[in-house]
Amino acid sequence: MTDQVNVQAAVDKFVGLVGRPLATWAESCVRCGLCAEACHFYQATKDPKYTPAWKLQPILKAHRSKTGFLGLLGIAPKVTEADLTEWEELIFDTCNMCGRCTLVCPMGIDIASITGATRQALASAGIGPADLFAAAENSRDRGSPLGLTPEKLEDRLEWLADDNEIDLPLDKEGAEVLLTVSSIEMMKYPDSIVSMGKLLNHAGVNWTFSSKGYESTNFGYLSGKSDIAKTMTLRIVEAAEALKVKTVIIPECGHAYGVMRWQAANVIGRPLPFEVFHITEYLAKLKREGKFEFKPFDEPCTYHDPCQISRRGGATEDARYLLEGLMTDFREMTPTANSNWCCGGGGGVQAIARSAPIRYKVFKIKTDQVAETGTDTLVSACANCRLTMDEAKAATKWGGKLESIVEIMASHLIEKDDD
Ligand code: SF4
Ligand code: SF4
Repeated sequence: MTDQVNVQAAVDKFVGLVGRPLATWAESCVRCGLCAEACHFYQATKDPKYTPAWKLQPILKAHRSKTGFLGLLGIAPKVTEADLTEWEELIFDTCNMCGRCTLVCPMGIDIASITGATRQALASAGIGPADLFAAAENSRDRGSPLGLTPEKLEDRLEWLADDNEIDLPLDKEGAEVLLTVSSIEMMKYPDSIVSMGKLLNHAGVNWTFSSKGYESTNFGYLSGKSDIAKTMTLRIVEAAEALKVKTVIIPECGHAYGVMRWQAANVIGRPLPFEVFHITEYLAKLKREGKFEFKPFDEPCTYHDPCQISRRGGATEDARYLLEGLMTDFREMTPTANSNWCCGGGGGVQAIARSAPIRYKVFKIKTDQVAETGTDTLVSACANCRLTMDEAKAATKWGGKLESIVEIMASHLIEKDDD
């Protein structure tokens, strides 16, 4: 917790922001404990404090402190400074908002959404990890969490276009499709940007990037800072409106897709004037239209479903459709698809440095799953999953490989001149 927080003011603000609908939902928990085994943080540690139901505690205690017989008499247990410190770690560092626990909850409690709302209440009270907050503020002030300003975007696109002899249009008038980026890709995995461009160009899509709205990863949402969430969302919406595009594509980033696809209209308070696709959904659409042919990718491999794209996003089958006919030795993990295990870095947890040790423990679940398939190549469609697992791979000295589905598609594309 930052030193500047006035504890009593923080408590009052947090308690004041916890509304009745959320509290009623949390109160419906029957303490069955089924969610424990569903959560990778519990699985990796066996520590009862990581049982998802425990993440309802902030809402429950805050609400009970001001309602009911004891609350109204002023004798209910109060929220304390120690509570806020404990909840900060629980709600920010050890929940990826992956939604796996909801699959097993008999009461259908969506702990991922409750975590999101609790983050908003904590952040409004000034409570949250300093590095996650800095990523959000950097997004607001400089355009992206990793400092990808509009000028840097333009420079890097020019450099990538020259180096790869490819057209990567920026602010192109008359374009029908706006492609956004995750700055993780631009700064760490630029081949992913080039690959998206190559595939869209090959399919004859009339597309562009925008210097006004490019960063799709919304650290305002992830940090609970609603004002920044709205600013980041509006940048893309207004850029799309200015270009008059009908389609916005979210790149290989799971939470970016979740926010723009499912939250954005509520965040800005009006319907989106365009369709939102994850890049895998859009490429699957192009493949169905017969726009691609691929050389076979012959290495044995498996696929990691990013939670926000598969379980929470619904694009589970599109990824498999893209792999069909391309991967000659594809093997599913167990569990997989909508029941996948999270990478451990979603929901902004990747940006919280102190969470690294527990993320590395969670990574072991994934590497064990990969080993069971008999492969050592793990393909995915989210740069944040990739970064989380790349870091864990280095820290744990895992010998496998992490690949991007878009990069494999682009590098195995049969170009028209290859015919
Ligand atoms: S949403 Fe995911 S990370 Fe959060 S408690 Fe549930 S299973 Fe665990
Ligand atoms: S599975 Fe649902 S009802 Fe059971 S303890 Fe977890 S949150 Fe509560």
